[in-house]
Amino acid sequence: PAELVMTGIAKVYGTNRAIDDISATVPAGQVTVIVGPSGAGKTTLLRIICGLDAPTSGQVHFDGAPIDGVPDGLAMVFQDYSRSLFPWLRVEANVGFPLRRIDKKLRRSRVMEALEAVGLAGKEHLYPWEMSGGMQQRVAIARALACHPRLLVMDEPYASVDAQTRAELEDLLLTIQATMKITVLVVTHDIDESVYLADNIIVLSKAPSRVSEEIPVRLARP
Ligand code: ADP
Ligand code: ADP
Repeated sequence: PAELVMTGIAKVYGTNRAIDDISATVPAGQVTVIVGPSGAGKTTLLRIICGLDAPTSGQVHFDGAPIDGVPDGLAMVFQDYSRSLFPWLRVEANVGFPLRRIDKKLRRSRVMEALEAVGLAGKEHLYPWEMSGGMQQRVAIARALACHPRLLVMDEPYASVDAQTRAELEDLLLTIQATMKITVLVVTHDIDESVYLADNIIVLSKAPSRVSEEIPVRLARP
């Protein structure tokens, strides 16, 4: 698993300080949640962590090395599964898409292993539109896992599914994390969700200082 360290991250758009002086750690092998209200800078911070955008100041280190572009070993799952899967590709090809340059046999075994991990073994021949929203989100998670990431980053992963599916997907994530021992970073605006999922919570406030707080979660999981 990987450790992520943010030091003095700020991002300024024109005169708008989207985030200001965020220092926080995402410890290896744990679930860390970034929580905050809309406009607090979650998306901005996530884009910087994933190497999609550069901070105005500050640095992010991934396993000790400064981030420069999307780091190897980092996989992302987005909120909007309906737009993140290719509708014209079957599940197997969707999950194998990031691995399309590796040997076919190896690719197939990694795809099957990832589908197994998310409870979708046997569904590889379906198209995304033949599946429920929750199943499609599992496919998106399988696609990330097939890359064997050291860090799994999820942006509002359950925002587009109903409450029951969401509870199932939350438990699935905890199972995957415990089995595969990967480092997981989840962004959400939902306090309940962050308390349920997290070993460690980073709070982004809307206060002018926008200083982050790190709260170790001491609640026992069910
Ligand atoms: P959250 O994801 O927590 O809702 P965002 O990171 O989307 O917060 O936004 C934080 C602040 O930065 C908001 O005031 C938003 O309008 C501003 N912002 C985000 N992206 C841009 C951008 N590309 N250009 C200008 N302002 C932006
Ligand atoms: P979230 O769903 O996390 O709140 P937003 O809807 O605020 O995200 O932002 C979606 C995208 O729009 C992000 O890429 C963000 O950087 C960009 N964005 C947000 N606010 C602005 C803004 N004021 N000007 C330009 N781009 C923005």
